[in-house]
Amino acid sequence: MTAIGLFGGTFAPIHHGHLRLALEVRERLALDRVHLIPAGTPPHRQAPGISAQRRLDWVRLACGNERGLVVDDREVRREGRSYTFDTLSGLRAEMPDASLVLMLGDDAANQFHTWHRWQEIPELAHLLFVERPFEHAAPAQQLVALMRGKRVTDPAALRARPAGLFMTATLPPLAISSTRVRGLLKARRSVRGLVPQAVIDSFTDEDIDFLTHDEEPAQD
Ligand code: ATP
Repeated sequence: MTAIGLFGGTFAPIHHGHLRLALEVRERLALDRVHLIPAGTPPHRQAPGISAQRRLDWVRLACGNERGLVVDDREVRREGRSYTFDTLSGLRAEMPDASLVLMLGDDAANQFHTWHRWQEIPELAHLLFVERPFEHAAPAQQLVALMRGKRVTDPAALRARPAGLFMTATLPPLAISSTRVRGLLKARRSVRGLVPQAVIDSFTDEDIDFLTHDEEPAQD
């Protein structure tokens, strides 16, 4: 059975924490590929000042030709709000028999019960809770209750069924967030080593203005 990881995010901008997360999960779960899915208009956060097209460009630059990473632009192309439920429905229609593994960072797992049609999401995909270093947001109680009895520890179980199971992965920590990157940019400090060089090289003054519009400058 083909097994596909799904990694959605704002990616404003994409950084090495995102790339390592996608690659480690792909290898650890022996997934055929991971789709990186930049959000169009995220329903749960203030829309970033930077355009969806620019965020998508950066995801493309960051992934380059890395085997097993696929840039999926369906949310950017879609009109209106980007709901994960709709994204998963589209993917499921295209791949009725594949194992789909939706990756959830701590923040996403914590807010999962506020998502559009969240209770139906496990009918479309497995849920992989990826613990994020240095953040301690627990998965929402509602999510834990929904997935009671569905928890597995062996990745082979996820690859053997199309949807419906719950697994946790803890990854080596990388203390990078887009918020930190934007704070450094605002303070006119270097983001080398945090953000792929091809992405840094593509930044225009206008990009940096849009990215850092409401951002506090980095303190550290
Ligand atoms: P922001 O700082 O603006 O909230 P972010 O760095 O969290 O941005 P998002 O695009 O919101 O980036 O992240 C998408 C997903 O990636 C989220 O589920 C988040 O938990 C996860 N993620 C981001 N950075 C890391 C990291 N360093 N390690 C593991 N997971 C991460």
